[in-house]
Amino acid sequence: MRIDYLRVSVTDRCNLRCIYCNPLRDCDLIKRGEVLTFEEIHRIVRLFAECGVSKVRLTGGEPLVRKNIVALMDKLVTVVDIEELTLTTNGVLLEEVADELKSAGLNRVNVSIDSLDRGCYQTITGYDLLDYVKRGINKAIKVGLTPVKINVVVLKAINEQDITALAQLSVEMPIAVRFIEYCPTSKRAKPDRFFVPNSHVRKNIESRFGPLTATVGTKGSGPAVYFKTKDSAGSVGFISGKSEFFCQRCNRIRLTSDGKVRPCLYSAYLYDIKGLIRSGASDEQILALMKKIIAEKHRYTRLNSPAVGFSMRNVGG
Ligand code: SAM
Repeated sequence: MRIDYLRVSVTDRCNLRCIYCNPLRDCDLIKRGEVLTFEEIHRIVRLFAECGVSKVRLTGGEPLVRKNIVALMDKLVTVVDIEELTLTTNGVLLEEVADELKSAGLNRVNVSIDSLDRGCYQTITGYDLLDYVKRGINKAIKVGLTPVKINVVVLKAINEQDITALAQLSVEMPIAVRFIEYCPTSKRAKPDRFFVPNSHVRKNIESRFGPLTATVGTKGSGPAVYFKTKDSAGSVGFISGKSEFFCQRCNRIRLTSDGKVRPCLYSAYLYDIKGLIRSGASDEQILALMKKIIAEKHRYTRLNSPAVGFSMRNVGG
């Protein structure tokens, strides 16, 4: 599998406090001086592009709370080998900046929205901001940040009743609604507290819309597997990190907001690329580490060094 996709967490700060994502307190935030600068991110992306990376996704934390994020995009679009620049956001600030993002060269967005019910959305995120997110999604579609994908984490006894309403979005609109299995990140969290297997989510969708059929290229270049309900404009996807083992088709590496490269989301192993940069390393030295990371990527899976006690905001999901 060619490793061509880099996810960059540009900040561990977020304007929501999702119960499953954000178990850390604000005092655990990474010190500002430890967060990668735009120049460092640009250099890392430029060098990874020399190693075959052609797709970059900005994530976080919430990438839209990082000051001047559009200026980072202006820099990244100049990296010639990057063919696709995308962003994952909670959508709260999207309506305000969608135009600017599009003009800066962003190709498309994924928006996380775990419920279409105002009260449930507030229970999960801590804030009554569902309408902002809906407006953000509409604006993203309007300015052409498409195809928009929606990310949903189904949480036991919290938003299970919203599965069909969320899937319905893919029936009405040409968007992909992706159901992501909860991944426990806190040492204190009971792993099964929130976990709902995607087999249950699928059953729920099929009992409402009928059998799902695999889309052409159902297994894309990543962990998501896509299906359609009858006559739907879009598709539903499943990312089953716990109940499936998809390491053999994983094409991604992750850059944390404090400058570590994580070859596998589910493995604790990290390479300190910021340390190398800040010690004055040359491009050749950094490239040597990047080539090693890519060559060794498939050694790391949740089976050989499982990740526990990490911040999803720092890693970027
Ligand atoms: N703030 C942005 C957002 O909300 O999309 C980007 C960062 S967020 C960490 C990226 C994705 O990770 C979101 O779709 C979120 O639902 C997912 N995520 C966060 N914590 C998770 C967990 N414990 N298990 C599974 N997915 C998680």
